[in-house]
Amino acid sequence: MPIYEYVHTSDRGPDCAETIEVMQGIKEKPLTRCPTCGKPVRKAVSRPMKAIMNGGKLTDSRISKSGLTKYVKTGEGTYEKAAGPDDSPSKIGE
Ligand SMILES: [Zn+2]
Repeated sequence: MPIYEYVHTSDRGPDCAETIEVMQGIKEKPLTRCPTCGKPVRKAVSRPMKAIMNGGKLTDSRISKSGLTKYVKTGEGTYEKAAGPDDSPSKIGE
């Protein structure tokens, strides 16, 4: 299971490190709150993404294999899926 890194968006609890590492399935929803202090967090660049990037060019097939979805901007605030798992939305922003 990949490890995702989250960072607190504002302040953090006394027991919290600045970066939280969470083991999550690829299809699990990202955390919005720190499991320790409950304050808002946002996802940092994930290790799977770094691993893909380190392996060379980020091709569409690599994106799909890693469970990520690539969207291409098609208009003002709308995006169409260019690569990714079948169960991810084909369009977003409409
Ligand atoms: Zn925290």
